Amino acid sequence: MNPNSQNIEQLRADFPILGRQIYNRPLVYLDNAATTQKPKCVVDAIADEYYNLNANVHRGVHYLSQQATELHEAARIRVKEFIGAHSEREIVFTRGTTESLNLLAFSLGEWLLGEGDEVIISTMEHHSNIVPWQMLRDRKGIVLKVIPVDDRGDLLLDEYEKLFTERTKLVSVAHVSNVLGTINPVDEMAEIAHDKGCLIIVDGAQSVPHMPINVEQMDCDFLVFSGHKMYGPTGIGVLYGKESLLSQMPPYQGGGEMIKTVSFEKTTYEELPYKFEAGTPDYVGSHALAIAIDYLEALGMDNIARYEDELLRYAMEQMQTIEGMKIYGESDKKDAVISFNIEGIHHLDLGTLLDRLGVAIRTGHHCAQPVMQRFGVEGMARVSFALYNTKEEIDAFIAALRRVQKMF
Ligand code: PLP
Repeated sequence: MNPNSQNIEQLRADFPILGRQIYNRPLVYLDNAATTQKPKCVVDAIADEYYNLNANVHRGVHYLSQQATELHEAARIRVKEFIGAHSEREIVFTRGTTESLNLLAFSLGEWLLGEGDEVIISTMEHHSNIVPWQMLRDRKGIVLKVIPVDDRGDLLLDEYEKLFTERTKLVSVAHVSNVLGTINPVDEMAEIAHDKGCLIIVDGAQSVPHMPINVEQMDCDFLVFSGHKMYGPTGIGVLYGKESLLSQMPPYQGGGEMIKTVSFEKTTYEELPYKFEAGTPDYVGSHALAIAIDYLEALGMDNIARYEDELLRYAMEQMQTIEGMKIYGESDKKDAVISFNIEGIHHLDLGTLLDRLGVAIRTGHHCAQPVMQRFGVEGMARVSFALYNTKEEIDAFIAALRRVQKMF
């Protein structure tokens, strides 16, 4: 089904929470970059697995354990197909983007990076793609370099190229900024990084749910993303990595599942991807994530991207009619995320009053304080769209904005 204004109500019926009232008003949920709502098929898959076939995976010879293992491993193959990876050995399940990035900072920190080696990130990174590298800097003395952003919210690619030296080993950048909405040219950035002999990590937390992604085309070395931002459950995420690299990297955590043999003298590690999956995995979450992927693919990622782009354009047009509106991030290549401030109204007051009118938005620093510093503000308000939002909801948001503005 192609999401459009004709069939959107039918599609919204898949998401029971969207029928809720907040303070006796219909919920207008515009905080999708933080997390998306879940279709009934995802929630049903979770309930069904706990009710009917719950058992620990990879361990039991019994029927339930084998069934649960089959679902878990089928989910890995589903993820592999969804992002165009070469092999399911390249798909590591984690708790989410943050854990995937911490795993990479630790493991690449052990294998690839030594004192004085340089890692390039960008001004528009989420804290989860800044802090793990700073922790590594404290442990190992690596050097962090930062790609600047222009006033429209685009990365300065010339400056990016200039940052490389013979000590640069790694680039780690967001595909889509969770504040500015900018879609970064990661294909081009990967080509540049590889030309310089460096690896590249792409943070796909805000892109994988909203557009077709193919890791082979992008030619990233690693891609990380979260289930909960793509209509799947919370607590499950993915680290994709090229097999040739993952196979050389040391494990991140130790424990059950990730070993072949253990004795007090010596332990040997499992093959990929299990080497990186210590402990009981979220096998219910992985299956439910596969169901979310089925849901997305039935709609078509191209169709979703096109529909959300319509919403973005409509919202940008409408928002610019509000007096005192300042929008941050006006790249020509922009995803459905709009951060803004309105002159004379603190973003926190704006969010609180909009909430009273049934409109859920995000306010604050959006876990990206360096972007706030770049644009000289302490915080911003943000609306972000998903495949179930409508132009009518944008109208309701704009009407609510005007009402709040009148109160000041
Ligand atoms: N990276 C980006 C670009 C994000 O937007 C987010 C969350 O908002 C994250 C990383 C962290 O994701 P999670 O909290 O699911 O680990």
